[in-house]
Amino acid sequence: MAIVEAATETRFKGLPLSPGIAVARVCLFNERRHVSLPVANVTDKEVRSEGDRFRKALLLVREKLALLVKEVKERVGVAEAEIFTAQKMILEDPVLIQRVTDHIRSKNFNAEKAVISSLDFFEGQLAEMDNAYIRERASDISEVKRRLLDVLAGMNPSFQCANDFFCQKGKNRIVIAQELTPSLTMELNTDFIRGFVTDRGGVASHAAILARALRIPAVSGIPGIHDMIFCGTEVLINGDTGEVVIWPSKKTLEEYPDLQREGIEEMPVVEPVAGLKVLANLSLAKKVKEAVDYKAEGIGLYRTEFEFFAAGKILCEMEQYGLYLEVLKAMKDKPVYFRMLDLGGDKTADFLKLQKEQNPALGFRGSRFLLGHPELFRNQARALARASRNGRVHVMYPMVIDIEQFRKLKKTFEEATEDIPHGEIKHGLMFEVPSACLDAEEILKEADFGSIGTNDLIQYLFAVDRDNEFVAYDHHPDRKIFWHLIHHVAHAAKKHRKPLSVCGELASNPVYARKLLTAGIRAVSVAPRAIAGLRIAIKNKPKLAKKKMPKLLGGKKKKQGKDRSYEAHGNIGRRAPGYRTSTLLS
Ligand code: PEP
Ligand code: MG
Repeated sequence: MAIVEAATETRFKGLPLSPGIAVARVCLFNERRHVSLPVANVTDKEVRSEGDRFRKALLLVREKLALLVKEVKERVGVAEAEIFTAQKMILEDPVLIQRVTDHIRSKNFNAEKAVISSLDFFEGQLAEMDNAYIRERASDISEVKRRLLDVLAGMNPSFQCANDFFCQKGKNRIVIAQELTPSLTMELNTDFIRGFVTDRGGVASHAAILARALRIPAVSGIPGIHDMIFCGTEVLINGDTGEVVIWPSKKTLEEYPDLQREGIEEMPVVEPVAGLKVLANLSLAKKVKEAVDYKAEGIGLYRTEFEFFAAGKILCEMEQYGLYLEVLKAMKDKPVYFRMLDLGGDKTADFLKLQKEQNPALGFRGSRFLLGHPELFRNQARALARASRNGRVHVMYPMVIDIEQFRKLKKTFEEATEDIPHGEIKHGLMFEVPSACLDAEEILKEADFGSIGTNDLIQYLFAVDRDNEFVAYDHHPDRKIFWHLIHHVAHAAKKHRKPLSVCGELASNPVYARKLLTAGIRAVSVAPRAIAGLRIAIKNKPKLAKKKMPKLLGGKKKKQGKDRSYEAHGNIGRRAPGYRTSTLLS
């Protein structure tokens, strides 16, 4: 990171995560701003003063909220002001006040500890409720807790008061956070978010992927930025270069003549092209229209776990069924690859109540997690089986390590769904763990299809954390051995005539897409907004598919005219012997 001080503005240089340029006021989203608070027990003598501290904080926050209600009513609207009215009401609740004061009095907690323990208790209770409205109140409690802790920590309440206005829903904003977890990213109302700036987070982190999918510029790798900036500060973010400018001067703004303070530029829609089938990655059923609008040739990766993160809870069988049906119906006869819940590791959320692990990237995650949570597995399998009556379902298992595990997954799925009348279901896997890639020949003899997840494959092949911007320089595919492995998997798929695609981030880069074509891969799945660029690049180089396979894999190209590479699997004008042509991947 480099910081350059300018006369009227401050410039930072971070890691570009998601392209685009935006200018907006800042909304600080710093979940961890209270980690260093003095959370402790006090002596009997100090109990009284801690009680006083709490009561004073209570009054200050209530006053601040009353001001906010007034201000928001005047400047935004009555409905928006109710957010703060609701928060104020929480702080007037005698049960809540009683619990905090009891904790101070009878447990000798200091004010911070009493606030955290009591409000976490109420928040937890509400978060468990089935009723969406009541669950919503849980986040109000969390917000109220944050406000109380701010005051207790001596954070300037007038600053908070003056600027919180800019953080509220209904306003364009750039979110600045230490780190955006997938669940946090999904919680935010992205309709109004013009950019993300974070301390941490690598190019392949889920938040970065989401930012790109949502077409929101994002930059990471600016440690401590949230401590140097206030809510309401004007910030310019350049997701192409990684530049972040605080309080950009008029001159700086003039450097970006096309900068729109409102709205986001739309990508063009490009018709499918011969040579490469381009499917869309999807995180939420409600976003499937975007894939349809960009003429995706299917959903190549539906990250179903994000539905849980968005809902903030574990979804039951019927809730999942409803979502899966929505996606199948929207995609009509096009294939949909449902990745089964890929939880654990970096994909976690409080409501999952996962055990803390020393090394979660290598712990209870992906398919290992699924097999260890039979109830979750069963519910999702049954939801998918039900949905398959309305369209072909491709079940894709995450983080598979070997053929034994794949067999176990398939068997578990089949046992869980044997009583459900269902349609066509194919079973395949993500190739994202090196052991599975190395064993692709054996696995693809049995599996119906495969999809290479390059984000995790690079992480595990080169032992480099995909979420850590400090080692981001090592998370890239420009190494021979990586491409040897890709060719190896492609060769295995070709041998067994099994469809193969690539759904990791690199597929949306035309340079790498060309290398995939060279390997004989004829299908990729990318963020919907990347579809157009990729198709344009392929259209401009239609001969790419003719390139020779490297000798290393024994993949000599046949002399006669027929191309028997993956194009044949791709229903792109050619037909492999005995292979269906109805869709690319099935
Ligand atoms: C991958 O690992 O490349 C992939 C596509 O899956 P995810 O990014 O969701 O882990
Ligand atoms: Mg993965």
